Amino acid sequence: MINIGCHLSISNGFEAVGKQALEIGANTFQFFTRNPRGGSARKIVQSDVDALIKIMNENNFSQIVAHAPYTMNLCSSKRETREFAYNTLTDDLKRMEYLPGNLYNFHPGSHTGQGVETGINQIINALNNAMTETMHTTVLLETMAGKGTEIGSRFEELREIINGVELKDKIGVCLDTCHVFDSGYDIVNDLEGVLSEFDRIIGIDKLKAVHLNDSMNYLGCHKDRHQKIGQGAIGYDAFKRIINNSYLKTLPFLLETPNELDGYAKEIRYLKNIYEI
Ligand code: FE
Ligand code: FE
Ligand code: ZN
Repeated sequence: MINIGCHLSISNGFEAVGKQALEIGANTFQFFTRNPRGGSARKIVQSDVDALIKIMNENNFSQIVAHAPYTMNLCSSKRETREFAYNTLTDDLKRMEYLPGNLYNFHPGSHTGQGVETGINQIINALNNAMTETMHTTVLLETMAGKGTEIGSRFEELREIINGVELKDKIGVCLDTCHVFDSGYDIVNDLEGVLSEFDRIIGIDKLKAVHLNDSMNYLGCHKDRHQKIGQGAIGYDAFKRIINNSYLKTLPFLLETPNELDGYAKEIRYLKNIYEI
């Protein structure tokens, strides 16, 4: 069975989002831990979380993905921004313990002129201070498009971060199809080659989730503009190969396409149809 879902809002609580996922045919989903522009997170109600866990258990959900706010930049040149990001990360990881065994995805960050090496070291330090031996969450570095001074658009940069993280069994990668394509990895004509490069540099066992997005732009454009599945430069055939690839097919697939709920439901139906069991 394919593990497929999309980005959903938790503004009505966890039980509500579980029900919403079921309505659109999803068995996983992604949510922002807090407003994408940052700010404080809503209080977690234990009974609400328990209701979601019950829905997930009864409906064969795979792992779900919490996404850190976009503003969380652990390697900004501004100290206040870095501190804010570190506090967000620490708080998010504590809150993730309400939903043990799931995934926490974040954008490694933008070094804003400090240089890649400085940025990577700041990310490593923050992770080593925030992650704990007792936590039950796997932290995922998202592959990035390489917009501006973004870190993580090359597999080598992600490897360097992972190499510096002490708790190796609690760190992984989330592959975003739009981002890797925009970064220059040709998943349309050479998916096998890209994945063997990932394996050689990072190790395929570190790949824990996939963001399914088509791209509005061309290979290597470094733009990061998501498109609906099949309507961009990646195209239907490539998505059929992606979801059926032997390394990817058992991972949770999350749509972050420009859609309302009905559009997501349609894409989920389509992807289920072209998934080979
Ligand atoms: Fe993201
Ligand atoms: Fe993404
Ligand atoms: Zn994106």
